[in-house]
Amino acid sequence: MGEKIQMIVPLVEIDGDEMTRVIWQDIKDVLLTPYIDLKTEYYDLGLKKRDETDDKITVEAAEATKKYGVAVKCATITPNAQRVEEYDLKQMWKSPNGTIRAILDGTVFRTPIIVKNIKPFIKTWEKPITIARHAYGDVYKGVEMKIKGRGQAEIVFTGQDGHVEREIIHDYDGPGIVMAMHNLDKSIESFARSCFNYALDQKQDLWFATKDTISKIYDHDFKDVFQDVYEREYQDKFTAAGIEYFYTLIDDAVARVVRSSGGFIWACKNYDGDVMSDMVATAFGSLAMMTSVLVSPDGCYEYEAAHGTVTRHYYQYLQGEKTSTNPVATLFAWTGALRKRGELDGNSSLVQFAGDLERATIKTIEEGIMTKDLALLAEGEKNIVNTREFLQEVNSRINI
Ligand code: NAP
Ligand code: MG
Repeated sequence: MGEKIQMIVPLVEIDGDEMTRVIWQDIKDVLLTPYIDLKTEYYDLGLKKRDETDDKITVEAAEATKKYGVAVKCATITPNAQRVEEYDLKQMWKSPNGTIRAILDGTVFRTPIIVKNIKPFIKTWEKPITIARHAYGDVYKGVEMKIKGRGQAEIVFTGQDGHVEREIIHDYDGPGIVMAMHNLDKSIESFARSCFNYALDQKQDLWFATKDTISKIYDHDFKDVFQDVYEREYQDKFTAAGIEYFYTLIDDAVARVVRSSGGFIWACKNYDGDVMSDMVATAFGSLAMMTSVLVSPDGCYEYEAAHGTVTRHYYQYLQGEKTSTNPVATLFAWTGALRKRGELDGNSSLVQFAGDLERATIKTIEEGIMTKDLALLAEGEKNIVNTREFLQEVNSRINI
């Protein structure tokens, strides 16, 4: 082995919890530090540390991501009542991903990692489909009311200048329900920019769909904001990159996605993204083979696995068992971040290494060596290994 690869600007390294924290260290030991003189600014978001710092560490990690532009994050526990007791927490700290996303104003893009011996449930899908979900408003911030009997429901807007606008929702002649939703042009614009930037980054077409034929103001606003941002800031760049922005109705999009061969980014409103990302992830096979990247409208990137801290496996690990937890999504979070860092710094050996590592990982699985979760899905020869053995098998296939 020759000289280690040098890094110029540090990567923001955000550590996490449980099984993924163990895998994090294993990945670094087996596959990264032997090849790279790893330069990171380390933030420990393990639950204990978040509690000790009153969660300030999470905010600092997000600020560092803004400063340097690229971060890699391990899965973290989002505390619930049981975790408050288990870790004796001062309070039920908020989801770190939620905190980081709010600071970066970012959008999450989820992409499956494809291997030849795991076939998607949809036969035509050959290339990954990336889902981008708008993470603000709509039904998630809906205000709801139970209507108890006869009467009229209205939407009323009172401007700061006292000007009032009202619209009758319905004249009820009996009990029913009502809901109001909202969104903000600013948030939709940020979402649109993150999507256009990521499409350019990946050199893939961007699809967006709403139900604007029925929702002539609300959904139509999403369509208009996307179109405006596209025409003002991105059309020329898309033409130069040879990619397309494509808008259609949500029902048409669903039909086209199922018949497609993949290889594009599908931007979804909040609820559509919630539902469709689970559909796409399941159809491609496994959450353990799904990567996720948070992209801010001003071009900061935070890479992570789409799955959680794999608690059940961690308790086995604590009992002294060797677990066969799949490290691929966490490993691809590292390669994604290293590649992006390399691209930004003009560091071609780092970019090259990220690609080598990904190819070695895919080759390992395609040669039948895999963790237990994949053995249930894969076709052909299967040799089940534990996490550490899997990483060593990947290491033996790196060609540099
Ligand atoms: P999870 O950690 O994703 O695991 C759920 C189950 O999926 C596991 O028990 C395992 O199934 C399977 N699985 C997930 N990832 C796997 C992998 N890499 N290899 C093999 N199997 C894998 O979800 P959870 O148990 O609901 O959540 C655990 C903790 O993670 C929670 O505290 C939650 O707050 C946190 N979480 C964090 C993030 C994040 O940081 N982005 C996201 C989601 C959840 P089997 O048990 O059947 O083997
Ligand atoms: Mg969901």
